[in-house]
Amino acid sequence: MTNGARAEVVVDLDVIAANTAVLRERVGRPLMAVVKADGYGHGLVPAARAALAGGADALGVAVLEEALALRAAGVDAPVLAWLNGPGEDFVAALRADVEVSVNAVWGLAEVVAAARATGRTARLHLKVDTGLSRGGATPEQWPDLVAAAARAQADGDVEVVGLWSHLAYADAPTHPTIGLQVGVFEQAVAVARDAGLTDARRHLANSAATVALPDTWFDMVRPGVALYGLDPLGGDPAAHGLRPAMTVQARVMLTKRVPGGVGVSYGHTYSPPAETTLAVVPVGYADGVPRAGGNRAPVLAGGRQRTIAGRVCMDQFVLDVGDDPVAPGDPVVLWGPGVDGEPTAQQWADAVETIHYELVARIGGRFVRRHV
Ligand code: PLP
Repeated sequence: MTNGARAEVVVDLDVIAANTAVLRERVGRPLMAVVKADGYGHGLVPAARAALAGGADALGVAVLEEALALRAAGVDAPVLAWLNGPGEDFVAALRADVEVSVNAVWGLAEVVAAARATGRTARLHLKVDTGLSRGGATPEQWPDLVAAAARAQADGDVEVVGLWSHLAYADAPTHPTIGLQVGVFEQAVAVARDAGLTDARRHLANSAATVALPDTWFDMVRPGVALYGLDPLGGDPAAHGLRPAMTVQARVMLTKRVPGGVGVSYGHTYSPPAETTLAVVPVGYADGVPRAGGNRAPVLAGGRQRTIAGRVCMDQFVLDVGDDPVAPGDPVVLWGPGVDGEPTAQQWADAVETIHYELVARIGGRFVRRHV
């Protein structure tokens, strides 16, 4: 840990670049690196630059503000912002050369208005809902959206550069919905091509599909979590040639000897069976350490993994370090690559019954992020 640091999230950008290169090489086609949500907690701009250094061809974000932040930082690679609601500032998007996606005819009308206001041609992706029942036009709405987009393209207001969708069960590679969604997607693409939208890239595959489902790769893949070295299938990322890029660590703030039987932390949900040493770690749920980790989640302290003792508080949690020589200032690793005895984000996710995505995306608060 950095000298004097209380709590830090260390992100290895070379690892993100290497993971990107592994995936890019495997698929042998364009890759859109998904860097939304502050690069899944790894830092929007640094993660984007690392992915581009690793061979990413484009960047994907959820909201327009993220795309504009990339532009403001000088990132000039193609960027798609897909989570567009009514009243979105498409004028700003077009001025910043950000690609946008729409789900409906009314969204397209807003893009066309912005194109006319700016005198620019919008680079547009059309999203079809193939079965996730989230974003995208339903197959019933799709022909109308496509027809309107084809007219807008003929008018020079838009250039349809993407046709896309998202899978519901990519992390269960044998799930029958995958084939069904691919079938719906192919039909939607055929409708678009018949309408003259022939140049658009088709993209469907998130990380799980990128590592496990070549039939979903189409013209471009769109991985997120795998770039950060987390296995989208919930196993060992090394099986896919990936390494976790994030290490989350804090320094012990205080240690104390206590007799057996004392109650530890709020609600006294933990009691040491015999005299022991408690170590207080100054991070808590306000920093993104899940409260559900109390009495469940592992950390590395004093050379071995141990479970958090008692409840995780807003700013701190406690460890029972027994008679091990753990002292104030010693590092405690919550999760990392898992190569030096520390738990992985996947281990944490299993312990607190969530997914590693949520853990890395929410870690923050008073952790200082450091890129190496
Ligand atoms: N595409 C869309 C539309 C998404 O919402 C996401 C993330 O949730 C991704 C791609 C990347 O997914 P993953 O992180 O599973 O690769």
